[in-house]
Amino acid sequence: MATAPVRRYWTRVAALGCCVCGLPAQIAHCHNGSVRERLQEPKAKGKKLARMDWLVLPLCDSHHRSLDADVRSWEQTHGTQTMHIDRLIVRLGMPVWDLAKVGCKTVGRAA
Ligand SMILES: [Zn+2]
Repeated sequence: MATAPVRRYWTRVAALGCCVCGLPAQIAHCHNGSVRERLQEPKAKGKKLARMDWLVLPLCDSHHRSLDADVRSWEQTHGTQTMHIDRLIVRLGMPVWDLAKVGCKTVGRAA
């Protein structure tokens, strides 16, 4: 279950609409591709690490499914996930990369 600050952030992210086409959006967790490179770490073992809850994009149902189906081709078509996250940081002012990395440290050490 996501924490209260994360849930508040998700509400603001989803309200922006799909970052590709502008349709009503749901929260899509970023994964692999450019995001893994940016975090500079091997593939996360747990799929639902709490820190990854900060790395989300607002996507409509169609763009969410195509992202989950094939990250590489999605990024080639629509731009990298990291680019879209950076745009969210500009629009919403939440330092999600920092939040994800701080979470990484505490979660990683505890495991
Ligand atoms: Zn869309």
